[in-house]
Amino acid sequence: MQCNVCAVEENGAALRVVSDGPEGTARDTYDHVVNALWDGRLAIDASLGLRPSRPWMHRFKYGIRFRPPPGTRPLPTIAIALGPFGDLIVYDQGMAYLNWYPTCLDAISHEVSPPDWSPIPAEPRRARVVAETLQAMAEIVIPLRDLDSGSLLECTVQGGVIVAWGHTDIDDPASELHRRYDIGVTSNRRYHSVDPGKLTMTPYFAGVCAACLQPHDDVLEEDYIAALLAAAEANPGAAVVYSDIQSFGTHDWVFQ
Ligand SMILES: Cc1cc2nc3c(=O)[nH]c(=O)nc-3n(C[C@H](O)[C@H](O)[C@H](O)COP(=O)(O)OP(=O)(O)OC[C@H]3O[C@@H](n4cnc5c(N)ncnc54)[C@H](O)[C@@H]3O)c2cc1C
Repeated sequence: MQCNVCAVEENGAALRVVSDGPEGTARDTYDHVVNALWDGRLAIDASLGLRPSRPWMHRFKYGIRFRPPPGTRPLPTIAIALGPFGDLIVYDQGMAYLNWYPTCLDAISHEVSPPDWSPIPAEPRRARVVAETLQAMAEIVIPLRDLDSGSLLECTVQGGVIVAWGHTDIDDPASELHRRYDIGVTSNRRYHSVDPGKLTMTPYFAGVCAACLQPHDDVLEEDYIAALLAAAEANPGAAVVYSDIQSFGTHDWVFQ
């Protein structure tokens, strides 16, 4: 939608979303607002005066994707979770994802809004991430020793933000980063802030959120949710799916 959400404001019983887009600043009023912005989430919560009572971290971490050159021994998919974290994931089409936490972690922020970290590292940082990650992981994953950073095909390095509770890094056994399960939907009347914790949890918390939004005096047909889900799956570009809505009283309309 090419809009950047800047704030959410109380507007009587409703909520107003303030956003900047190609046509300037917009203020749109909604009955419910779901904040699912990941690294943008805490700043929008804060605009409503909602601040967590515990420390949080935004960690900016790189990952490396590459295609092994022909003749490379088959690479395993493996996650190393003893000591510093690393993983190698081999996809069906032959591409691989590689990361070694000590070299791929680039920056940490404890601010409400993390810096505008550039997802693609500049040289020589990029080359160093590839070489040092490969070297560290090859100490543990023997077939990686066949590779050197210059031989990787279609090699890209891209970073992303990881949002989690905690103040100290993973090398602190007491860090809250080791309790990533403490996640979910926090509702403040009609405002719902979703911390999915991990990508794998997003479908579950989307369901939790949908239950928060369902007006309590509405009765749903048994196949209502299944029909909406089927419509969403059939239209991957859709941002929202809903049934026809019959209004009555002051206006007699059917919204389609
Ligand atoms: C390196 C790395 C490795 C990871 N590995 C795993 C893993 O192995 N398994 C796993 O389950 N998860 C993993 N994750 C976490 C996973 O990527 C996130 O949990 C997941 O992307 C969160 O999904 P989301 O829909 O909440 O947010 P996102 O997919 O980030 O979507 C949020 C959207 O909101 C937009 N946005 C943010 N702020 C604003 C704003 N103010 N206005 C408008 N739009 C805004 C963003 O541009 C984005 O499009 C990893 C993350 C990183 C960075």
